[in-house]
Amino acid sequence: MTSSDSEGVELKHDRPTYVFSRLSPNLTKVVEYDSFTQYPFLYLIHGKDKLVLLDTGCGSGDLAGFVTSHELNPRKLPVYVVCSHSHFDHIGGNWHFSGPGGKASFCVELAFGEGRRDYTEHWKANIFGDQVKDFAITKWLADGETIQMGPEPDTTEDIRVIHTPGHTPDEIALYYAKERRLFVGDSFYQWQPIFIPKDGESLDAFKGSVSRLLTLVESEEAKDSQASPIVMCCGHVDDFLPARTALQQVEKLVSGIQDGSLPHIKNTAFGMQLDEYRLDSFSIGFMQDALAENSTCCYSGSGHTHQ
Ligand SMILES: [Zn+2]
Ligand SMILES: [Zn+2]
Repeated sequence: MTSSDSEGVELKHDRPTYVFSRLSPNLTKVVEYDSFTQYPFLYLIHGKDKLVLLDTGCGSGDLAGFVTSHELNPRKLPVYVVCSHSHFDHIGGNWHFSGPGGKASFCVELAFGEGRRDYTEHWKANIFGDQVKDFAITKWLADGETIQMGPEPDTTEDIRVIHTPGHTPDEIALYYAKERRLFVGDSFYQWQPIFIPKDGESLDAFKGSVSRLLTLVESEEAKDSQASPIVMCCGHVDDFLPARTALQQVEKLVSGIQDGSLPHIKNTAFGMQLDEYRLDSFSIGFMQDALAENSTCCYSGSGHTHQ
């Protein structure tokens, strides 16, 4: 989620709620044009026997109908939903995939990282969380766990789960070796503040997550120097961010905050004061308000706050 602090002109348009683009034969990006102006990126990874849907956006439209349509899911594969973290703009469509007693018939699992179940289960306490319809979590993903994309384990096809606390305690990333893509939710994107709770712990956790992802990227790239560099698919803004460079820049940004070498900029987000630190195209924002303690915001958006 991005802070929607501007009083800019709200754009009127006739575009549909969900717009998709094929990033590769196995990977589809969906952008949701929501009334919160979050415009989250959802990703569909097409496996042999399942379709993984990363995040469900704000819940503005019939997401289930969209992702099970012939155009997006011609083989009618069951959908395995993974949520990058429990903010409203990533879980708003989850209810479509829940059914009586658990999952909808076309859903394999509805999964979250298990890093902080207590936090995840209290998603309604997060900003705008009270507006998210109820859903059932059916699977908790451990750090390092793989999501098998076919009938047999396959180290290239299968998706690795990496716990990446920082933006939220329950944030996860997914690594899809086949496409050399790292899906990072709200942990990274450019040009808008990456929100980190101002609690003295989350920045340290985030620093650890950056370091672990950098280790993963360096080790994967070292295995094959001829292969294309790994890129990040973010929850907003960026779907093709060179991973190693981005992680190194954000690592420098965190160090600059911690050693006091970067000046902070007073900004606003959601009408509240924000302490922001910038380095090149990246920025980290700390909320000054009590709201941040319970409900970090995700992405600062490009328009109005929800009315
Ligand atoms: Zn977000
Ligand atoms: Zn978020």
